[in-house]
Amino acid sequence: MPADRATAETITSVHTWVPGKLFSFRTTRPADFRFAAGQFARIGVPPSPGAQVAPVDMVWRAYSVASSVHDPELEFFSIVVPDGAFTSQLVTFKPGDAIYLDPVAYGFLTTDRFADGEDLWLVSSGTGLAPFLSILQDPAIWQRFRNVVVVHSVREVAELAYRHDIEHFATHPNFAGFFAEHPDRLRYVPVITRGDAQGMLDARLPELLADGRLERAAGLSLDPARSRVMLCGNPDMLKALRQQLGEQGFKPGRRGEPGNLAVENYW
Ligand code: FAD
Repeated sequence: MPADRATAETITSVHTWVPGKLFSFRTTRPADFRFAAGQFARIGVPPSPGAQVAPVDMVWRAYSVASSVHDPELEFFSIVVPDGAFTSQLVTFKPGDAIYLDPVAYGFLTTDRFADGEDLWLVSSGTGLAPFLSILQDPAIWQRFRNVVVVHSVREVAELAYRHDIEHFATHPNFAGFFAEHPDRLRYVPVITRGDAQGMLDARLPELLADGRLERAAGLSLDPARSRVMLCGNPDMLKALRQQLGEQGFKPGRRGEPGNLAVENYW
């Protein structure tokens, strides 16, 4: 990252979902930082708490932007990796602390990769939900797709971050009018892989896809002609899903040829 490009931003709020495991934070946003819903930014912290170092010597990591492209701030949703060079520091940050941003957006997990379709499937594990939170707030997708399905797989129910926001998306101030006229356009499918699933789907995504439970829970079939699928999160899970979907006829876009599958691995 060119050192002269980094901007110092201020953390404006922090929300803990699961102490020591999952949190979200918001930062100021440079006026000229533009991104498309689904893209990621690079954010940086010093190599040790409070160390004064040049941007080039900071620890930089990719982070999907979870907030709307119209939001005056930026929101990120983060894991805490025990002893992780980046997240073990980040989790100690408080409002008012500085974080560094490479104000260039990266990535191809964007709906412009797809030809128009009927159903947009946003399938994630863990913090892989983040880019889909931004995409949900993109008015264009509600014009382009009849149905939007959000699948979020986590270990335990407590890790279903943003569950309330997604379940009540129809009351979002920017979309309430639309949903009043077009109810049931968003389908939320939480998946729990350990512990008490409280009646939710309770197996790994590849198994749920293979035995049809995922489609039944969404009330829609996965069909390459009508479905457009985005996958984000754990690379092992994505590899398995990608192979299964490939066998059903889904494929990523190529130059000049829009596909019906887009994938982003987090590590
Ligand atoms: P690292 O040394 O980077 O990672 C150590 C190990 O932790 C990895 O090998 C892996 O096993 C595990 N790990 C890393 N990230 C995750 C994760 N997110 N969930 C579960 N296990 C993980 N992370 C986020 O939390 N939120 C995001 O929005 C996000 N967006 C990303 C976008 C892209 C394009 C990529 C490539 C990665 C993204 N990541 C995201 C991962 C992030 O860049 C870091 O890897 C993460 O913050 C951990 O940093 P670390 O230095 O603490 O640990």
